[in-house]
Amino acid sequence: MIANYGYKDGSGEYYISVDTDKCTACGDCVEACPYGVFEVMDDPVDPLSDEQVAVVTEAERKKIKYTCGPCKPVTDRPPLPCMAACAENAISHSW
Ligand code: SF4
Ligand code: SF4
Repeated sequence: MIANYGYKDGSGEYYISVDTDKCTACGDCVEACPYGVFEVMDDPVDPLSDEQVAVVTEAERKKIKYTCGPCKPVTDRPPLPCMAACAENAISHSW
């Protein structure tokens, strides 16, 4: 299942998606993100599952465009730290 965290406003759509089928709850994205965007917890999308997954913290879901800004230069965009850290390729960004 794809879990989307974020919002849209007049300037665009700002969502981080985690593929919960791919996520192994390894926590590497938690370590890699310099701004504490991720945490590993019980799957909020599927309460019946006893699996843990990476999620975007509640506080960051409302301001993710600004938190991720320093990781997203306009030109010469490098791999984002969170995506580069995820060996399962479970993380994507909408912008
Ligand atoms: S690095 Fe990838 S597999 Fe590991 S917890 Fe984060 S999203 Fe899940
Ligand atoms: S883009 Fe940067 S700030 Fe945003 S979640 Fe990934 S590592 Fe964290």
